[in-house]
Amino acid sequence: MARTYTSTTKTYCNNRFITGPDKGYFISAMVLVFIPEIPFLIFICPLFEEWVTPAIYVVSIYIWLAVYAFLIQTAYTDPGIVPRGVYNDSDIFSSDQRQPLFKKITIKGMTQEVKWCETCSLYRPPRANHCGMCNNCVEKFDHHCPWVGNCIGRRNYKTFLYFLYCTGFKCLFAMGFCVAHIIVEASRIRDQHPDYSSANVFNKALNKSHYLSIIIIVYALAGLMFVGSLGGFHLYLLATNQTTNESIKKTFKKGNPFRKSIFRNIVETFCAPNYPSYYLYNKKKDRELKVLENKPTRTSNDSNNNNSNSNILSNTPNLPSGLFSPSSNNSDGSSSQYSDNQNINNSNNNNNNNNNINDTEIDMKIINDDNSRLSMKRELEVHS
Ligand SMILES: [Zn+2]
Ligand SMILES: [Zn+2]
Repeated sequence: MARTYTSTTKTYCNNRFITGPDKGYFISAMVLVFIPEIPFLIFICPLFEEWVTPAIYVVSIYIWLAVYAFLIQTAYTDPGIVPRGVYNDSDIFSSDQRQPLFKKITIKGMTQEVKWCETCSLYRPPRANHCGMCNNCVEKFDHHCPWVGNCIGRRNYKTFLYFLYCTGFKCLFAMGFCVAHIIVEASRIRDQHPDYSSANVFNKALNKSHYLSIIIIVYALAGLMFVGSLGGFHLYLLATNQTTNESIKKTFKKGNPFRKSIFRNIVETFCAPNYPSYYLYNKKKDRELKVLENKPTRTSNDSNNNNSNSNILSNTPNLPSGLFSPSSNNSDGSSSQYSDNQNINNSNNNNNNNNNINDTEIDMKIINDDNSRLSMKRELEVHS
């Protein structure tokens, strides 16, 4: 039997929403974002509605909702979980052999090592790492963020950064208007009571908002220090094309093969389309393979294709009960998982398989999907 370990990741709506196991901090983050907005809208905004524009309500609520949207999107997006391998040690190695712990690969002329993951039964793709909280390997793993309750990886890094910078901007916005509120109220009181001392004027100005303006300033300043320092560090990571995990472990001491110009690093992070999820991909492939299985007859020209289809299905090992039981129990789904991992371990072999099965329309669709996954690994050259 292949080894299986239980993933702690939770999935909803046919794997469309994927999140980590613990949501305690996530709920705290939701509450922390909620708390200051209500007093800000009730006590601070009315002054500026009168003096500046009522649009201040709209702008404030818009940024507030954007913070929530990015927080929830980051928390419930598949970070790029790598489907587990289905290798059985005894299928590949004799009893006195095991998989080598490391394999050397060359990326843009630079040698990197990929490590065998005992838990997931696969060689981790370059830049992937195993998250101990979620118990999965995640592509371009940055870190496991307790505040969003999910890993930050290839597929949700962008929304995580949007969340950080949007929260930072919201803190600055609230602080700016609270400071302005105190100054405007103080000048009003000074005009009405020129004989008041400065301390008295300041005290009465604060009292106008029941001291909430100063409380919001302190609250927002604490938030800004937290997200600002994190946001600044991620700007450095963006510029050097590193993840937090790689930066801490100093993975690219001898050179970073993924590094490009600062402009291109930033543009690729924010403007490139998101990578497809392996799990939604598997669902789509499940449906296509079911259509393939249910096809009544094949044309006479497709005799080779029959062989190739049986190749696809015969390559389908029974997936052990592990991650995401609905798809894991489906033998078709396991086929694509196996195929994905084969891409990593032996891309040449996969290309040969693809060449065998490129005649029928539906097979082409599957191959195109395979190629789209392969293109993600196009810079990878495996020396086994
Ligand atoms: Zn792993
Ligand atoms: Zn995690």
